[in-house]
Amino acid sequence: MSTSEILRVALPVPLPQLFDYLPPGEGVPARPGGRVLVSFGNRKMVGVVVETSAGSALPAERLQRIEQVLDDGAQILDGKLIELLRWCWQYYKRAPGDVVASALPPALRSSRGRIPDPPQHYHLTDAGVERLAQPAGRARVLHAMLKALETGPVSGQSLAGIGSRWRKTLATLLDQGWVEAMPAPVPEPDTRPGPELIPDQAAAVKSVLAELDHFRCHLLDGVTGSGKTEVYMCLLEEVLSNGQQALVLVPEIGLTPQLLRRFRQRLGLDPAVIHSGLSAGERLASWDAARTGRAPLLVGTRSALFTPMPRLGLIVLDEEHDASFKQQEGFRYSARDVAVKRAAELDIPVVLGSATPSLESLQNAGQGRYGWLRLRERATRASMPAWRVLDLRQQTTSHGLARPTLDAIGQTLERNEQVMVFLNRRGYAPVLMCQSCGWFGSCERCDAHLTWHRRSGRLCCHHCGHQRRVPDLCPDCAADALVGAGEGTQQLEEYLERCFPDAPILRFDRDQISRKGVMDEQLDEVRRGEPCLLVGTQMLAKGHHFPAVTLVVIVNIDQALYSADYRALERMGQMILQVAGRAGRSDKPGTVMLQTLHPEHAALQLLLDKGYEAYASWMLEERNMAGLPPSGYQALLRADAHEKQDVERFLRSALAVFPQGVTRIFGPMPAIMERLGGRSRMYLVLLAESRSGLHGQVDAWLPRIRELPLARKVRWSVDIDPQEL
Ligand code: ADP
Ligand code: ZN
Ligand code: ZN
Repeated sequence: MSTSEILRVALPVPLPQLFDYLPPGEGVPARPGGRVLVSFGNRKMVGVVVETSAGSALPAERLQRIEQVLDDGAQILDGKLIELLRWCWQYYKRAPGDVVASALPPALRSSRGRIPDPPQHYHLTDAGVERLAQPAGRARVLHAMLKALETGPVSGQSLAGIGSRWRKTLATLLDQGWVEAMPAPVPEPDTRPGPELIPDQAAAVKSVLAELDHFRCHLLDGVTGSGKTEVYMCLLEEVLSNGQQALVLVPEIGLTPQLLRRFRQRLGLDPAVIHSGLSAGERLASWDAARTGRAPLLVGTRSALFTPMPRLGLIVLDEEHDASFKQQEGFRYSARDVAVKRAAELDIPVVLGSATPSLESLQNAGQGRYGWLRLRERATRASMPAWRVLDLRQQTTSHGLARPTLDAIGQTLERNEQVMVFLNRRGYAPVLMCQSCGWFGSCERCDAHLTWHRRSGRLCCHHCGHQRRVPDLCPDCAADALVGAGEGTQQLEEYLERCFPDAPILRFDRDQISRKGVMDEQLDEVRRGEPCLLVGTQMLAKGHHFPAVTLVVIVNIDQALYSADYRALERMGQMILQVAGRAGRSDKPGTVMLQTLHPEHAALQLLLDKGYEAYASWMLEERNMAGLPPSGYQALLRADAHEKQDVERFLRSALAVFPQGVTRIFGPMPAIMERLGGRSRMYLVLLAESRSGLHGQVDAWLPRIRELPLARKVRWSVDIDPQEL
């Protein structure tokens, strides 16, 4: 095949390759970065052309033509982005089609989806001005719309709602030549000055600005409340006023209306926003605004990372240690690592911010590969909170709270201040148990206890979604002896209500917040500053600025101290400091009360006495001695199936064909949650001293795994740089 070019297309199928097609017979040509419709087997599929090639390994008679070029042949993914995606599928060992599909907004994964028309603005023509000067007569709605245009061009959105059929009215006005459409102008930033920077902030801003014109990764390591967000604002101000675009990535829970408001106020423009809570249409609109350069600023969660941005000049990733930056299924990429890669390819700076940086980033900063910008004080000059460790062995507790804790809560409320009670949700949800025989509700499909939701009278598995009604009698011994055990946020809320009847209680957890708007209402109430109690889970730990909270209670942390996951201590330290960072953020000093059965635990003491940096260097040393990340490089071969036997046999046969080399391999071992959704989960662990050694062996191994007979019977995948075991 040399007479015509071959187009190599990424298709959403789990095969580790691109697929060759001939150019379409007629019409606009297909080109790299554009969407096409092709036949694959007996199905039609949307794919993206990745590259062209002079020939194909396939015999000519087996090559098919591309059926249709979509989007009028537009290149929707630029060459740099295609290269980034290629790096991703090679690095994460994922099928190209899967990786490319996840870079597309969901609406464009089907052939019906199309790129939206660019937004228009409307203005009156001279004829329109004349018509407006005449009496409305019977055309009252029409006249009202002309009137709305009197003061200058407006968007279609601001005409919506004039009359019941505003689109039709607008069409009439356009037909009559009274109104004209033109492309909406690109918003220009209109920045307001922020507070005067304190010296650490000013130094951080200066360091990044000095190297705006090339790739450099900066770790902005600043205690909670040290003004990291203000540093981002100063950098964004500069980049946007240079006419470039900027991408800000935040953790799932971090993308609050408050944060967006802050961008709007400070930078004078509405950021385009991408997160999983938006409708497909909204996501597409934001994506397209960024892709066409109409949106100078894009703020989003993990998946926004792959948005094409033609003039991208800066990437900021806030709370870089946050676990939600790692995708935990399918294409298991780390948005942090890929963001650094994207910045390197574009030769632009990237800023990773955190009060509790990941060990990976601290190691890179320590070895000089990243710039290390430290903010050691709180910007508002508020002091860091004081710790109070409460030894639970010497206390009786009720609903998980010890007497001194209740006293401290009462005193804080009496001083008209706010209290936050933080519950680590994992392993601490309420379960229903039988006092007579010891039965408790557990999921039939997972290794998990069912969480008891008292108000709805249901037992739910928070891992697979299984639900059932609460039984009246014990299912095992039929005794009328079912009681709740363990505390959830709901019980804690009820108990606190009884103890402090005068203080309003606001609950922040997934059940409560899933109702639209509740989070905002509650946050507004907190911000009014009246005394109140906030009860919640991880959701409270991040990013929020609650000036009136002066006492934070951490109900229980002990689980992390003895976890089987070597990252548990890192996460525990981050969680404690993030939660504690909510205390005393303004003029009044804050206190953090930590309830624990293990006050003597060495790691905990180090964290509290010496702070995160010392704690992190100790953990780094431990990891170093064990050869664990970030000292070594890890990968998992994960597998699951209904029958545990199958999983085990598959992993053993994979182990048997593992190529010789420097990588050590262990297992099979059960996942920490071995049963999930009715399937058994196990894995092999690979550990190597060099990244290239690891990748070389995995690449040689994968074709051998695919040939194993069991490879079609179990579900399996490779997880590079895993975050969960
Ligand atoms: P972080 O992102 O590090 O948690 P923020 O940027 O949210 O910190 O700042 C914490 C608080 O301090 C905010 O209320 C912010 O307005 C304020 N702040 C930040 N920088 C300054 C400054 N230079 N002077 C006064 N207040 C500041
Ligand atoms: Zn029983
Ligand atoms: Zn379950």
